[in-house]
Amino acid sequence: MMRTHTCGELTANDTGKEVTLCGWVATRRDHGKLIFIDIRDRCGLTQIVFTPLETRKEQAKDTMSLTGFIPKESGDAYKMAQDLRNEFVIKVKGIVNKRPQGTINSKLHTGEIEILVKELEILNPSLNTPFEILEDIDIGEDTRFKYRYLDLRRRKVFNNLTLRSDLYKIIRNFLGPQGFIECETPILTKSTPEGARDYLVPSRLNPGRFYALPQSPQLFKQILMVSGIEKYYQIAKCFRDEDLRADRQPEFTQLDLEMSFVNEEDIFSLTEKLMQLILKELKGVEIRIPFPRISFDEAQKRYGSDKPDLRKELNSDFAFAWVIDFPLFKYNIEEKRWESEHHPFTSPRQEDLSILEKAPDKVKSRSYDLVLNGMEIGSGSIRIHNQELQERIFNIIGIDKENAHKRFGFLLEAFQFGAPPHGGIAFGLDRLLAILSGEPSIREVITFPKTSAGFCPLTDAPSDVDERQLKELNLSINPVRNTERPEKQKEISNGVKKGREGK
Ligand code: ASP
Repeated sequence: MMRTHTCGELTANDTGKEVTLCGWVATRRDHGKLIFIDIRDRCGLTQIVFTPLETRKEQAKDTMSLTGFIPKESGDAYKMAQDLRNEFVIKVKGIVNKRPQGTINSKLHTGEIEILVKELEILNPSLNTPFEILEDIDIGEDTRFKYRYLDLRRRKVFNNLTLRSDLYKIIRNFLGPQGFIECETPILTKSTPEGARDYLVPSRLNPGRFYALPQSPQLFKQILMVSGIEKYYQIAKCFRDEDLRADRQPEFTQLDLEMSFVNEEDIFSLTEKLMQLILKELKGVEIRIPFPRISFDEAQKRYGSDKPDLRKELNSDFAFAWVIDFPLFKYNIEEKRWESEHHPFTSPRQEDLSILEKAPDKVKSRSYDLVLNGMEIGSGSIRIHNQELQERIFNIIGIDKENAHKRFGFLLEAFQFGAPPHGGIAFGLDRLLAILSGEPSIREVITFPKTSAGFCPLTDAPSDVDERQLKELNLSINPVRNTERPEKQKEISNGVKKGREGK
């Protein structure tokens, strides 16, 4: 390593040590005879001091604070330090010095010490940044996201990334030992019916044909149950082309899992133990399990919502609840037809099988939602594993046999080779992280988020493509299109079709 220590670790116990630190110039105060710089890396800040040689000698006499050491090269470093500006990347070698009385900063872990610099190397200069790298800044998201790499130098934003990394570790450490196998599923695939529009990717090798980006790994995880995987999980990217709002992004991350030979109780108790562990490890909070269960009807009646916020009732900062007994279908008034409340692979209750076609409005499903603080953070169901029942459901929601085979034939075929009973759940990790970090929007916990107009200010995506690329794909663009940049288009955040949440 180019450094001996990070910028967040030196204390008075290190006084007198010769150290080398690397980092960014966070602040610079030039007091004429003394230049103070806070050097920052991901671990913290350390104050470094440059003094011309003469000042050092005087100061040593006055304060007795330099432990008798006067670096002889400090004169050169001092000269160079005059050119330093915020966000320059530097390497400094120097001696750890206990700060003089009255200059100790008790808020900083390194606040008792400073480094008296002997040598300075400028590793890379920096342009003036478009905003100062401060904890509290009052600038728009467009600028923050365009310069997200600078935004991420801020502690608060950085902490959101480490929280995600810690969460993933907890999940993997919990599920692995319980026999779960982490499996990847394709991104270039076929449409998955989660109630949103698909993102399509044209195929060069199959002109006129398109892949869909997965709205979830739903079909693949069910097929993995047919494979005998028994316990699957994946931290999966999902893509849904929906109008965006604070808790939605075009791409988001789910913890997706599925198990064979289970019923609702197995999913509930696994989830509760996992959430209990997450809250304990990440927030130091003990939550009580089992979580309260509320039927969909009761939630609507008592709270006017299927995402009840029970914080006041339970008097806890983190109030989980299961919402159960959802209707299997909902009526689409515009299109005058029934559609699935969850997705069409959700099993109806056994006792409702006889009224499926007669009274679809009365049929309840075996699906469940996990709600935290009034937000849906997970949803899942016990699935249909019988091809005949699956076809009845498709029929009710207006997908005839031919269409069903065109869209999901591969799943229906797989189901004929001994599909075990199975069920699962998927959790919206961005929403969970936003709640855990107290952020108002999931954009704050996503490394490179898009604006509410679905635009990436950093890369300018989505962007135009070359004529040549379009030709290769056998595509042409209809010239009548909105040429305004998406971020300037008026945000349409209401009127979203109720489909399942993008968690
Ligand atoms: N695939 C479902 C969703 O994304 C979750 C599940 O049923 O497991 O909502």
